[in-house]
Amino acid sequence: MTFEQITTEQKQKALADLREVKELFASRGWFPGTSGNLSVRVGDFDPEQFHFAITASGKDKTVHTPEDYLFVDKEGKAVEATKLKPSAETLIHCEIYRQTGAGAIFHVHTVFNSVISEWFWDRKSVPVDGVELIKAFNIWDEEAHIDIPIVSNFANIPQIVPEVTERLQPEIPGILLRKHGIYAWGANPFEAKRHLEAFEFIFEYVYRWELLNGRK
Ligand SMILES: [Zn+2]
Repeated sequence: MTFEQITTEQKQKALADLREVKELFASRGWFPGTSGNLSVRVGDFDPEQFHFAITASGKDKTVHTPEDYLFVDKEGKAVEATKLKPSAETLIHCEIYRQTGAGAIFHVHTVFNSVISEWFWDRKSVPVDGVELIKAFNIWDEEAHIDIPIVSNFANIPQIVPEVTERLQPEIPGILLRKHGIYAWGANPFEAKRHLEAFEFIFEYVYRWELLNGRK
């Protein structure tokens, strides 16, 4: 499906969804210092051809302006005339979409996700045992154990992509960047939001649990 075949209504729906999520996450303080980025895919998915709307680089996400989003292709290049630049981390969105065919990807920096990614960096994943909210990922086992992958954080974003390719696990809808933040995704914006909220709850839980136990 080419970008021209995607209807105006589909594009407007994606922008409306982004606006709603952005406002909610901004109210939680999840975009400190213009950090974080959000995207919603539009049209049919083919790993070789897909499109998504993504937050423009460097904008204050606590306000709504005509310069908040742009549409890009599977390489993260703008598909409409615009002076806006896609978020610097767009290539990570491209790779997650390519691998998962997800409908939305949300990325936020929080203190808990940053601290926990460094605390467990030596094992390259965050171990989580039996926390109820694991069920938010559609994992229903009693006392389920999951490992949330952590990848390196480089200033040069293209350098991060191969690690995402290698470490992403389809059953875990999220990946941490070391001392940076989380990418969470889902089949649609509602599911991506549910997953992100579950991850953030789990990171705070694990942080407090480790602190209480004074252990590693
Ligand atoms: Zn970031």
